[in-house]
Amino acid sequence: MECVALVMAAGSGLRLGGELPKQYQALAGQPMLRRSIEALRACPDLRQQVVIGAGQEGLYAAATQGLELPPPVIGGATRQASVRRGLEALAPRAPSHVLVHDAARPFATPALVTRVQQALAGARAVLPVLPVVDTLKAIDATGAVRAEVPRDGLGRAQTPQGFDFATLLDAHRRHADQDCTDDTGVVALDGVPVLAVEGEEENFKVTTEADMARAEALLARQPRRWISGSGFDVHAFAAGRPLVLCGVALPHDRGLAGHSDADVALHAVTDALLGSIAEGDIGSHFPPSDARWRDVASAQFLHHAAGLVQARGGRIEHVDLTIIGERPKIGPHRDALRASLAGLLGLDPARVSVKATTTERLGFCGREEGLAAQATVSLSFPL
Ligand code: MG
Repeated sequence: MECVALVMAAGSGLRLGGELPKQYQALAGQPMLRRSIEALRACPDLRQQVVIGAGQEGLYAAATQGLELPPPVIGGATRQASVRRGLEALAPRAPSHVLVHDAARPFATPALVTRVQQALAGARAVLPVLPVVDTLKAIDATGAVRAEVPRDGLGRAQTPQGFDFATLLDAHRRHADQDCTDDTGVVALDGVPVLAVEGEEENFKVTTEADMARAEALLARQPRRWISGSGFDVHAFAAGRPLVLCGVALPHDRGLAGHSDADVALHAVTDALLGSIAEGDIGSHFPPSDARWRDVASAQFLHHAAGLVQARGGRIEHVDLTIIGERPKIGPHRDALRASLAGLLGLDPARVSVKATTTERLGFCGREEGLAAQATVSLSFPL
């Protein structure tokens, strides 16, 4: 069985409020789409093809940074049109089977995906469903309850829905002009039998603010692994340059030499963040030979590294920075540096420590030839 999961992320729905379509909104610090993709990546032998909305290319690139995926397919005006475009894009390779999954369901488990795939051995269309447990009532437009609706034999439809690829592609081509709310509905128009398998309560579709809160609560209960990263940097003093530490310009008779603003403190923290995700060092991301980084604020480097951490679901839990040198005395500026660093990282200052030490007049720091900084960051990541 060659099976491809078509991940539907083409919606422009802003129902949750905010400026981003919901699949790009952050859920516990990570875009919902990325969480849905990562959940499916836990399934062996399942390729993924994401379908996005026109104009969402930048959001997609940011949400999937570092993941190995084929270029996204651009969807159409409706979900149905978007699924069809995704299927047409897969047609040249013609996998034997396809799963269609909503990006707004970030909690599908490998067990559910396997259940759907195994059922495809004996069915052309498979639908995960949940029982209806609440009593159902018919209510008219005035709010009056009119009748009880028998719930026997009813089920709540979920995704991923599984299909014989040719069957689904054929049905979508034939019924492009008929509105269906899901894909088993499209094949049902051709009389294709749909087999129900058991869905999962936690595989809910994140639609409302309450769903978002439920999703955040679920993620908060998931265990995380803790990682630390360390960074160290040195810059020589130079006349005629401003002294910038943690993004703050300090009064001093000299500044630090360097290609950027030479903020030795932010460079150490940036390297510590890169170290935590084994992503090389500041020089490999921002080569000093590149004129683009000339005299730029080092906050730009810090934000880049923090973005890479965040894209992996990482959370910065604590930063401990030590600035090493004789002068200027850091003490009078410590609170300003701490507040600035916390602000740049979006952290509570209680999670940010700025310390200073001298080297007892020994070595290059002791001779006031330059400043050094070292940083340790503690981070947590999803398991
Ligand atoms: Mg440096």
